[in-house]
Amino acid sequence: MIGFKTQIAARQSAWIALRRDLHQHPELGFDLPRTAGIVADRLRALGLEVQTGVGRSGVIGLLEGTADGPTVLVRADMDALPIQEENAAPYASQTPGVMHACGHDGHTTIALAVAELLSERRPQMAGRVKFVFQPAEEIGRGAQAMIEDGALLNPAPDVCLGLHLWNEMPVGIVALVDGPMMAAAGDITIKVRGRGGHGALPHETRDPIVAACQIVTALQTIVSRDVRPTDVAVVSITEFKAGDSFNVIPETAQLRGTIRAFRPEVIELLGQRARTIAQGVASALGCQADIHVEQLTLPVVNDASVNARLRPLFQQVVPAAQIIGDVKTMAAEDMSYFLNAVPGTFFFVGSANPERGLDYPHHHPRFDFDEAALLLAIELLAEATASYVLPDPSPTPMV
Ligand SMILES: [Zn+2]
Ligand SMILES: [Zn+2]
Repeated sequence: MIGFKTQIAARQSAWIALRRDLHQHPELGFDLPRTAGIVADRLRALGLEVQTGVGRSGVIGLLEGTADGPTVLVRADMDALPIQEENAAPYASQTPGVMHACGHDGHTTIALAVAELLSERRPQMAGRVKFVFQPAEEIGRGAQAMIEDGALLNPAPDVCLGLHLWNEMPVGIVALVDGPMMAAAGDITIKVRGRGGHGALPHETRDPIVAACQIVTALQTIVSRDVRPTDVAVVSITEFKAGDSFNVIPETAQLRGTIRAFRPEVIELLGQRARTIAQGVASALGCQADIHVEQLTLPVVNDASVNARLRPLFQQVVPAAQIIGDVKTMAAEDMSYFLNAVPGTFFFVGSANPERGLDYPHHHPRFDFDEAALLLAIELLAEATASYVLPDPSPTPMV
């Protein structure tokens, strides 16, 4: 362990101010001019070699050591969500309908703080750290866009590290999970085409609403009857759009939803069965179903050997922290694309504080986290990264 506590204590108010500034000015998807601009300016000011516009709006900062060694990729996401913030905090969003409701303002701040801490140790550094700030995590597109644009080349990383502030756990709990941790996600759209007509003359129509209702019900059998009981999966229909009049049977009905699973074979099965069921049910009722299935993210799978290295380190850094290994969620993250290409880990840092009302779930209009978690996350990520590129100053015992 290097020991960053003094530097963190000295700068905590500046980092909290940065997080609050980002929180006040959230930006969406690939369209992050202000956020990416701040990130690039700060990385340049620290003396890093900076690339902008990677994967449309991603930013990469390369911190080169003075001797050769491994390349560590540190990943943060920068985008917010199309949600109207309902918090009354002085740093609440100033942009109507847009809010940092997932904590990515925190992640951006954490990675910038780690860049600052490590850039001061450059003379002792053997290897390099590639700080990757990605856009469009919430739509599952940013990581792929950056990778397609060369984010994993020149230099190619040996290990990748990332974290999520996690309001499902209180501050003080850290989850380092071996293997699959977050689900692969897919998006399904089903368009049911029938024959419209008068609501009072159903026999002259082929009603797409009735067919779509039966499809929604039949899709529920995929998890209960098609997926092996020892596997986990989700099929949720979350959109149903049809008709706009009380006496007209419409021509079409549209369904949309999400499929989730940990194993690629299972997500594949969910898509295939959804297609067969939608087409079969629609056809039995005289309609036609067009189904489009799109895979959005891979499952997040952590490398057990990277975790084995970090677990004792984290415990040493924060002796009071409770480090757990049994957290899994069907939520998805496109960090999975980095972890699919490079061994590494994505860990959760508990960020809820129920006593202060800071325990709303991610994507809720009142989401906010305890900033104590921000400082803890900075320390953990800085130590984890340093463990690959800086010599451990703890004295070696004399023999
Ligand atoms: Zn999110
Ligand atoms: Zn997130």
